[in-house]
Amino acid sequence: MTRYRIEAFHADAPDRLDHLDDHVVTVTDGVITAVSPRADDPAPVDVDLVGSHVVLPGFVDAHVHAPQWPQLGTGLDLPLERWLAEHTFPLESRYADAAFAASVWRDLVATLLAHGTTTAVYFATRHLEATVELGRTCAALGQRALVGRVAMDHPEMTPPELRDPSPAEGVELTVEANRRLGELGPLVTPVITPRFVPACTDALLAGLGDLAASTGAIVQTHCSESDWEHAHVAERFGRSDTAVLDGFGLLRDHTVLAHGDHMGDDDLRLAARRGAGVAHCPRSNMLFANAVFGVRRARALGTRVGLGTDIAGGDQPGVASQMSLAVAVSQMLEDGVDRDLAAERRGAPGSRIDVVHAFWLATAGGADLIGQPVGRFEVGRRFDALAVRVDTGGSGRATSGLRFWDGVDDEPARRFDKVVRLAGPADLDHVWVDGVRRSGTMAE
Ligand SMILES: [Zn+2]
Repeated sequence: MTRYRIEAFHADAPDRLDHLDDHVVTVTDGVITAVSPRADDPAPVDVDLVGSHVVLPGFVDAHVHAPQWPQLGTGLDLPLERWLAEHTFPLESRYADAAFAASVWRDLVATLLAHGTTTAVYFATRHLEATVELGRTCAALGQRALVGRVAMDHPEMTPPELRDPSPAEGVELTVEANRRLGELGPLVTPVITPRFVPACTDALLAGLGDLAASTGAIVQTHCSESDWEHAHVAERFGRSDTAVLDGFGLLRDHTVLAHGDHMGDDDLRLAARRGAGVAHCPRSNMLFANAVFGVRRARALGTRVGLGTDIAGGDQPGVASQMSLAVAVSQMLEDGVDRDLAAERRGAPGSRIDVVHAFWLATAGGADLIGQPVGRFEVGRRFDALAVRVDTGGSGRATSGLRFWDGVDDEPARRFDKVVRLAGPADLDHVWVDGVRRSGTMAE
């Protein structure tokens, strides 16, 4: 049992920020067993962070392409289909080499933990051994992870070296990957992962849908990401991407649909009925999506939403920057950007979200999307958290812009705004997953 005395923020709804100003959180075997105001629980604590740190729930990154880590920051001025063919597929082919894969995974998982990503939802690669190794790395370094072997077999839409030999073998390889991932302990959850409809034959999609039904495993895929992808599916099936996925049995409770930018209201309603949701990737929206996902519209229709970096379709490793960007792109969606249009025709009214909403997406919203008991400081949830060091006045580090000024930043809402928008890895002294310290800049 460990007792933490903390000042913390968490949100149980997009419009409800809770400030725990001086509380004791008790953690037993990774589970939060008590949360009390310090005044009600004056017994000694093991870790006292009040005054020096602000504690947040760990971040959930709902969409990461692990093998794209070495291409972070490259080719981002290309359209999606060219970026995939010219940058992504050649790199992903290298993961047939398990040693290369292991070296990338170690660096990626350690870096994401240092950025406060306590849960990541990973697309691994088509390769069985590399996929299992990613799960092993997450278990070893202590990151909560959903990991999926990427299934793809379409003869015209995939390069031969990244193609499952047949639909049946694509399903078999997924079964084997998930069996082995399922043996790696409580932090690792296997996921059924058809890359996206264009890369898969009907038979593979149907086989994976049957597998989801028979095993209950969570599904992740891409949905209506860009004009090209959305139109490609509509042309092949005469229906929306969402409806096609549903037809193959892939739209289920906690299915993670990456991007969803071009999902219509009917699609969002259908996803909501199935319990599926969207991994909103604001940075990637700016680069590849041809549109911005409307968080507020999706939430109003009951669709689950979390936040993702889309590494490497987004060029930032941390979820913190996605919170800031989620607010920014929602403002651009609401206002529009073309001054040649009249103001009333320029944007999509009612689209903007505030920083609490973005924070909820990155924590409790993401946890709800994937069905993991994290994201808030509440009895019964797992203790995944991060401690942001709070420097005061001019004593801050030059590597960070985060400062609290006496007499200026005394209001909790203002402190929260600064922490969410400004805290980076240099400010994270502790990162805990399942009650165990896994990363941070401060020595134990
Ligand atoms: Zn993606």
